[in-house]
Amino acid sequence: MSAHEIPHVQPLPYQTMTPEETMLLNERHPRLGGIYPECNSGWFTIIDVLCAELQRQTDKYKAPQLVVTQVKQKFGTLRFHVACFDTATDEIADEGYASDTQVSLIAMAARLSARTCEICGRPGTMQEREWIQALCIEHAAN
Ligand SMILES: [Zn+2]
Repeated sequence: MSAHEIPHVQPLPYQTMTPEETMLLNERHPRLGGIYPECNSGWFTIIDVLCAELQRQTDKYKAPQLVVTQVKQKFGTLRFHVACFDTATDEIADEGYASDTQVSLIAMAARLSARTCEICGRPGTMQEREWIQALCIEHAAN
């Protein structure tokens, strides 16, 4: 394939979150720099609670202020990418890491996502078909 050919891209096998849900996340967590999940609505609560707990670590335990750089589903689980925000320069910091607790919260959210139907939020398991996705019994049957 030459560099100018566009590779065939599969359409997303699922819908993304609704605009209303995305707006609600950003209203609730304005300091996280913009949250635009590329995953389905079933993970709304996982992401909402994760954002709240990450910010609580900053506000209560002086953990770094984080900004969300990407939220997506990959290989069936939640990928939640963050960067540190430098409040002195008002820019994303070149260096610095989330606190150990913040890293653990993100890891736990990923583990929860693997057991939560990405479409509806009910208990789910990993289903491997054309793509890998965490689904409840009902959505796995469709
Ligand atoms: Zn479901």
